[in-house]
Amino acid sequence: MTNGLVWLRGELRLHDNPLLQAAAACDRLLLVYVIEDSQLAPTDWGWPRRHAHRWRFLAQSLQALAEQLEALGQRLLVLCGDSARQIATLVAAHDIDQVFVNDAPGSEEAGQLQRLLKLLDQTLPAGGSKLITSLDNRLYPQLPIAAERWPMSFSAFRRKVEKRLQPQSPCAVITRLPPPLLEDVPVWPQALMQQSQSESLSSPPRFCGGEQAGLQRLQHYLHQGQCILNYKQTRNGMLHNDDSSKLSPWLADGSLSVRHVWAEIERFEADVSANESTYWLKFELLWREYFRWLLQHTGNALFRFVGLRDQPIHGLRAFDRFDQRQHEQFAAWTQGATGIPMIDANMRELQATGYMSNRGRQNVASFLVKDLQLDWRAGAAWFEHLLLDYDVASNWGNWAYQAGVGTDTRARWFNVVEQSRRYDPKTEYISHWCPELAELPIADRFAPWAASTAVPDYPASIMLDPRW
Ligand SMILES: Cc1cc2nc3c(=O)[nH]c(=O)nc-3n(C[C@H](O)[C@H](O)[C@H](O)COP(=O)(O)OP(=O)(O)OC[C@H]3O[C@@H](n4cnc5c(N)ncnc54)[C@H](O)[C@@H]3O)c2cc1C
Repeated sequence: MTNGLVWLRGELRLHDNPLLQAAAACDRLLLVYVIEDSQLAPTDWGWPRRHAHRWRFLAQSLQALAEQLEALGQRLLVLCGDSARQIATLVAAHDIDQVFVNDAPGSEEAGQLQRLLKLLDQTLPAGGSKLITSLDNRLYPQLPIAAERWPMSFSAFRRKVEKRLQPQSPCAVITRLPPPLLEDVPVWPQALMQQSQSESLSSPPRFCGGEQAGLQRLQHYLHQGQCILNYKQTRNGMLHNDDSSKLSPWLADGSLSVRHVWAEIERFEADVSANESTYWLKFELLWREYFRWLLQHTGNALFRFVGLRDQPIHGLRAFDRFDQRQHEQFAAWTQGATGIPMIDANMRELQATGYMSNRGRQNVASFLVKDLQLDWRAGAAWFEHLLLDYDVASNWGNWAYQAGVGTDTRARWFNVVEQSRRYDPKTEYISHWCPELAELPIADRFAPWAASTAVPDYPASIMLDPRW
């Protein structure tokens, strides 16, 4: 009789789930998700790690998975605490022979596994329980690149993998699982319920968590709406849902498998049409892949003020050295009250929905780091707080890249006024999120500080000496 435990750290799905597939060979199974203590604890930045947007999306994803598991006769146990300790306690209490868990990039995630291994060694007789890890939600199981070649640029990475490797094929959907080790699971933690039902949340949410919702979005973007055929032309849009795939929230918590997404794009290319746009969506998925491997190979370095560089960026102010004015500027940035419509619209959208387009993210990051010269890590931590699609590798990797402390240290500055003229020429996006500007002529909405008519309700620009 083999007792198995699946520790779900993401991978919240039945399709293409190597963890569940491997665990299906056990005789009895316990499926566990642990909300790590640190996710609920206050942070040094002064705001919680996760906003209610993220808690709600997580609660929906877990609820959806629990219902799917119940249909297969299984249960989902959700706990709070020190995850390594919680898992080790369950292993000892239920005579677990095998623990299945993903190997995820990120130093906290790696630390959890190391601690679990240590606890298992201490509590169980030698050879007592086996830890079986499998690929997290990424395309390639391994790379033809030696460890000492990291860190490398995205272009070098892409050249190495694109022609030489085929992403791993998805595995079969889980239709059967062994019976549960626990017939009755305790009520889910109060903290999850409380956090995800905050009154401050918009209703209905912009995105709903869960595997079915993710698969439906994929189906819509590819096969039903064929939006993918124009992705290259529309992807920089900020307003419309179909401007880009909007798959990121489900990819981030593993409700959607990236290998499945890739395989579906290739099926679409074979059955319907392959063009520059279909290729470009795969190209973006390679960026996601790149940041996972980069984080895995560089460990903690991506979280440092200097990032992967040896020296800090000249003129950039670290968060713990902010003066009063810099704290106020940072607060204005977070609240969408900088007086610069391109920045305010995007930051307000993030605050209201938990999502921001890639164009928006690049601009607000550039503005924070290159115009205000404020600590890029504070920006990354603010995104971590709010983004529904928060992903440790993609978030910190992109922020480091924008700040010029990743593998590409070229100066990257966005003229945010020019960018809004180019990507929002009719000011539909700006006007949607900054309705105070509606009375101004369109040409003045990009830079209201220069308009002949004052806009009383809109903040004055915090940039005293702008470069644009
Ligand atoms: C400062 C900054 C922070 C970011 N933080 C995150 C984050 O925490 N989580 C996250 O998933 N993405 C992050 N991104 C990347 C990108 O902005 C989002 O993936 C994208 O906007 C999500 O919308 P979409 O699914 O419609 O993307 P699409 O344009 O439709 O792209 C398809 C998929 O490709 C991947 N992808 C696209 N662009 C990137 C990129 N630059 N880096 C990595 N993967 C990419 C995503 O998985 C995305 O879902 C960040 C970008 C910047 C500039």
